Amino acid sequence: MSERALNYEYCDQLVRDFEDVVEQPIISKSSVYYTGVDLGTACVVLAVLDENYKPVAGAYRYADVVRDGMVIDYIGAIKIVKELKQQIEAKLGIELIYGAAAIPPGTDTLDSGAVKNVVQAAGFELTNVLDEPTAANKVLKIQNGAVVDIGGGTTGISILKNGEVVYIADEPTGGTHFSLVVSGAYGMSFQEAELYKREARNHKELLPVLKPVVEKIASIINQHIKDHDVEEILLVGGTCCLAGIEDIITKKTGIFTHKPQNPMFVTPLGIALSC
Ligand code: ATP
Repeated sequence: MSERALNYEYCDQLVRDFEDVVEQPIISKSSVYYTGVDLGTACVVLAVLDENYKPVAGAYRYADVVRDGMVIDYIGAIKIVKELKQQIEAKLGIELIYGAAAIPPGTDTLDSGAVKNVVQAAGFELTNVLDEPTAANKVLKIQNGAVVDIGGGTTGISILKNGEVVYIADEPTGGTHFSLVVSGAYGMSFQEAELYKREARNHKELLPVLKPVVEKIASIINQHIKDHDVEEILLVGGTCCLAGIEDIITKKTGIFTHKPQNPMFVTPLGIALSC
């Protein structure tokens, strides 16, 4: 197996293991636990690894406490992180001490420590705050390629050279636009469309409806990568859960595009690995 295939396998296995422990935590005798806290626009995720960096527990909740990477409901964010932390602690029968977090690239001055403060106020000893693509790349292990993070409000494009982030961009097209298209096409409210879109069983039917928005995202990717040597594209972020999105992006960019099993969990796992 080639090195890249091995890395895809590592990433997919880690995410599969995490999905399993979200359902059924593993009670281990680890001497230490590392928690990655991912505060997203649509979703807050906690990923817990043991001393061998194996997933043992996780929890997530759809929430509206962050917008475009900025904490807009500080008290609400603390409450959710605290509740998810307590929920995991009760299942594992331990206290989670160490936590790390990530912020969208280029937002450190705008964030002014809000994400860090949320994680600390929720009861974690903060060990690290890193940027999201760097966190994702702890799992993806790209040397020369792009991480495309299609979240709720935006699409983040990060280009890596020799494993380091060398270029970032954030464009205001994301899963919210997908929901608006579904809402218009099916005459549903935004909230109904949002839930309909998340159901995997509806994806086959939705793909042709959503193809123009995916193609728009692919053309945005093309604009940003055109001056770089991008050998592969790795998709992360909740919107990439849409079945078949990777094929449209491969076709429009002409670059091999890999989607890990459940792309929503890559960044939180990468944050936990950096804890
Ligand atoms: P941002 O990156 O914009 O700050 P975020 O980090 O909260 O947002 P994610 O949690 O990565 O974003 O993704 C949220 C988006 O993913 C939402 O638009 C949501 O509807 C969409 N999404 C989540 N699960 C699915 C799914 N199973 N199928 C399709 N879309 C999904």
